[in-house]
Amino acid sequence: MKILVVEDEAALADALTEILRRNQYNVDTVYDGEDGLEYGLTGLYDCIILDIMLPVMDGLTVLRQLRRSKISTPVMLLTAKSEVEDKISGLDCGADDYLTKPFSTGELLARIRALTRRTGEVNVDAFDFHGLTLNKQTYMLSYGSQSVKLSLKEYQIMEILLMNPNQIITKERFIEKIWGFESDVEYNNIEVYISFLRKKIQSIQSKATIHTARGVGYYLEEKA
Ligand code: CA
Repeated sequence: MKILVVEDEAALADALTEILRRNQYNVDTVYDGEDGLEYGLTGLYDCIILDIMLPVMDGLTVLRQLRRSKISTPVMLLTAKSEVEDKISGLDCGADDYLTKPFSTGELLARIRALTRRTGEVNVDAFDFHGLTLNKQTYMLSYGSQSVKLSLKEYQIMEILLMNPNQIITKERFIEKIWGFESDVEYNNIEVYISFLRKKIQSIQSKATIHTARGVGYYLEEKA
């Protein structure tokens, strides 16, 4: 899962980034509103943590612009205690939640889980596609009584597929989500990981498989 952190206090931004990474999130961090808007507009994130008082462009303006551009990514605003008015206008601008500084790590993580929970998703510790499950804590991919452990990159690819069942995910999107824009990862890296994943999926005799949409990307499908 990919999170954007927009926070100008470097110490806080770096601490947040570190905490989120330790909790298996893929994190991009920017330090002013203009960069926040530019990154947010890509629509690549599952959640945006947005400070209100930011240089160049304030957080509420960023939020307003995102919503105006039809970006519906869940946004959690970070506010200082004194900014009660901002909280209200933040929610009016389309924020999904806000957190008052200082906050505890536990609270932050719980709020992010709530914001990124998909409707209808019952088991928040695992993704499920027709009995093929992926445990978010252990990276174990299971089908029936059989399990296999995934590497970090395999996990990230599988997570994207499981979060978007029956949708074709392009190779570009995998690369942007997992490696970031500025990476020079080639398409064949994805192909290699997909082939590793298929072998693992086959090894646990799952009925769900990764299909190739030729020239486009991949999607999960249940074998008839
Ligand atoms: Ca600030």
